[in-house]
Amino acid sequence: MYATLNHYLTRWRSLAILALLLAPLLWPLHHFAERYYSEQIAGQNQQTLDLYVANLLGTLRRYEDLPPILGELPTLRAALQSPTDRALQSAANLELARIRGRTGADVIYLMSPDGLTRAASNWDQEDSFVGRNFSFRPYYKEAMQGRPARFFGLGTTSKRRGYFFASEVRDGTRLLGVLVVKVDLEHMEQLWGNTPDQLLVMDGNGVVILSSNNAWRFHSSRELSPAKQREIAENIPYPILQPKPLKIDQRRWLSQSRELPETGWTVSIYTPRVQVDNPVRSVVIIGAATLVAMLLLLSLLTISRRHYLERIALEAQAKHELEIRVLERTRELEDANARLQQEVSNREQAQRELMHAQDEVVQAGKLTALGTMSASISHELNQPLAAIRSYADNARVLLDHERLDDARGNLVQISELTGRMASIIGHLKAYARGARRAPENVALQPALNDSLALVASRRQAMQVELLRDLPDADIWVQAGETRLRQILANLLANALDALSEKAPPRRIWLIASQTPERVILSLRDNGPGFSDEALAHAREPFFTTKTSAKGLGLGLAICDTLLRALGGHLELGNHPEGGALVQLHLLPGLPGVTSTPQEETRA
Ligand code: ADP
Repeated sequence: MYATLNHYLTRWRSLAILALLLAPLLWPLHHFAERYYSEQIAGQNQQTLDLYVANLLGTLRRYEDLPPILGELPTLRAALQSPTDRALQSAANLELARIRGRTGADVIYLMSPDGLTRAASNWDQEDSFVGRNFSFRPYYKEAMQGRPARFFGLGTTSKRRGYFFASEVRDGTRLLGVLVVKVDLEHMEQLWGNTPDQLLVMDGNGVVILSSNNAWRFHSSRELSPAKQREIAENIPYPILQPKPLKIDQRRWLSQSRELPETGWTVSIYTPRVQVDNPVRSVVIIGAATLVAMLLLLSLLTISRRHYLERIALEAQAKHELEIRVLERTRELEDANARLQQEVSNREQAQRELMHAQDEVVQAGKLTALGTMSASISHELNQPLAAIRSYADNARVLLDHERLDDARGNLVQISELTGRMASIIGHLKAYARGARRAPENVALQPALNDSLALVASRRQAMQVELLRDLPDADIWVQAGETRLRQILANLLANALDALSEKAPPRRIWLIASQTPERVILSLRDNGPGFSDEALAHAREPFFTTKTSAKGLGLGLAICDTLLRALGGHLELGNHPEGGALVQLHLLPGLPGVTSTPQEETRA
């Protein structure tokens, strides 16, 4: 924030310095504007001056030749020739008044050689010249000397400024008098009007006789010599005898002058300098404003260019950063990918190792099972073998002593023991054979009926009540005909074994239920149920709680293994109301043809 502010201050400071450096450019502008407007005004003034001078000269020239011409008029000459004749005087007065009216002169009058006015155009007015003597006037003196005379001066009575033209009136060699035409000059001032420009007309003495500026009138532009002062005192051309010096501040005015050789006058126009200064100031102000505007525009352009460059730089940086991020991300992804691949190969390796280990474990398990099995088998077979040997040895001794009945009894025992050994071996053979066969579709009810038939006589002897809850329609399961019968027979035999341990009433429940995924056959009895130890170990081969005559401990182990091979399993437990609850879980099979078992039930 501070940096930005500083940056702007620096920028404005440099702009101000640039403006100061460019400011001198305004001087030539000022100079040219001043020259231009001065020339403009000079041109205008020149025209005004020409017009004014033409007007003034025209006025004067109109009357210039009037006196000698009028001097020829008989009426006027007669009045001069007979100065005492009143009638002639009156006629001359009337004639002069008439001529004045036609020519526009201020006054026309006739003087006798002694300077006395004999007739005048204003004879009938209050300030009549008739009877007045103007011999002191220089025009009289000059005319008397035979020269056409001119004179500027104030009217002695009217006090109005006028120009006097005079000439002698002669009758051959005799001087009859002087005729004077006075022209009013006051109106030449009024012609000027009310403008800021001021008019100034100076006579030969350098005294202002006409001016639109009252303060300048009758002031002298130069020092008057004593002779001139005397002449003024004598002729009284001005209302004052000693004109004061004319003071015009040349710095405030622009002037232009023109000489009038006929009269010795100088006509000047003074224009206030502000007439030039004002437009010049406007031009300079406009110039300065343009300069400032250009500087502002320049600064704006610079700023916008800088912003543009900054934006481009930012965009480029953003793009660069984005590219870098994309690169980094790509690299990360590549790394992740490599890690994943590594992980996959590690996992594959681990899986391979696991499978290998599993194989080894299975192998080890098999070996262990085989070890346990062979240990159990040898144990189970050793006992009857030892007993058989003992019975055989005893029988030989009894035969030696001819105790034939006792010897026969021993042989019966031997026979039973070999039967038991055959039974053990048969179980193992059935297990080994059945476990390898693929499952087929088997109807549940017929298999159950067959198994029940096997134990029917024993059940009836024990008075065991059978409670069936099975659908009429065949339930088809995936199994083997013989294997299923073998499993069911085992479970029913176990139930009867358990029931033999208690007093009646003895009951067996058979319940089948079916879902699309599985078929469950529940066998419940109201015997003592599984002990905790039996629940934990009943599936293990050769685990039995029964006497060696009744149980081998292979039934549930074989059932469990067979069911697993068929895709099902065995659930062992106790019913809440007492007694064992064994559940067979089987995969549902496709309906087929009920067949008689091909497999051997028991060895
Ligand atoms: P065996 O019947 O030869 O003992 P099994 O593997 O069939 O071998 O049974 C193992 C043990 O499980 C039996 O000794 C017994 O303790 C227990 N058992 C099996 N069926 C039942 C049952 N219906 N009620 C109570 N205990 C049972």
